[in-house]
Amino acid sequence: MANPCKLGCGRVLLSTAVVHYAAAALSDRGRKRPSNEDAFGFSVEHGVYVVCDGMGGAAAGEIASSLAVDEVLRLLTSRAGDEAAPLEQAPKEVVEQAICAANEAIYFRAQRNPQLSGMGTTLVGLLTGERRVLVFNVGDSRCYRLRDRRPDQSGLEQITLDHSLVEEQVRIGRMTPAEALRSPLRNVITRALGTQSCVTPDLFELEAEPGDLFLLCSDGLTRELSDPLIESLLGLDLPLDGLCARLVNAAKKAGGQDNITCLLVRAES
Ligand code: CA
Repeated sequence: MANPCKLGCGRVLLSTAVVHYAAAALSDRGRKRPSNEDAFGFSVEHGVYVVCDGMGGAAAGEIASSLAVDEVLRLLTSRAGDEAAPLEQAPKEVVEQAICAANEAIYFRAQRNPQLSGMGTTLVGLLTGERRVLVFNVGDSRCYRLRDRRPDQSGLEQITLDHSLVEEQVRIGRMTPAEALRSPLRNVITRALGTQSCVTPDLFELEAEPGDLFLLCSDGLTRELSDPLIESLLGLDLPLDGLCARLVNAAKKAGGQDNITCLLVRAES
């Protein structure tokens, strides 16, 4: 099946190039779950950022999400002999290969160990370059971009599309967003790493401007907080680690039903 791929949005490039990025992340068990099956990892130096949300019985979800983070980071930061960051090479192929390898690592580990059978994980990732970024995802963990707009416009844009049963029903008009939130099927995801021998990510290539703020997060954040609330919290004048703490605390205050993870990446001039 063809892979949906969104290319640049046609904006005129600014003369000011983005020259570097800053990042911070925070993960929390939440208030109801006994353990944290989310995982994250990043390397500002290599321009690679990943958030995963694992699933499976006992410790399987934790194993799946941490395996995926480790494998994708390892593959995207250590291409032997290549000095350039992955985004400056052949990014889409590199990302697809890394996702495929992470998928196989989880899948074959589950095959070897019956206690891990059925484990899997979502993955949302970001590769950064000087003027553009590549977002990739499998499952219902999301990437948003906050960009300065006029005061009457929302600057927060959801970049990824959830691979979940209810979101797919919403997209074809068979369910309203409110029905999706209440549906008993809301936890069913339609694509995951590790549950089948092969998986393909969605890829979104975007231009980056100084000031852009990217949020990668698990559904423990987005089920508790509306997009307008996320946008208002991201607009606070705080360092990135302070913004992560505000997001996580707000999600816990709103219920904290699930593990909560957020990773923020800011493009700076
Ligand atoms: Ca979750």
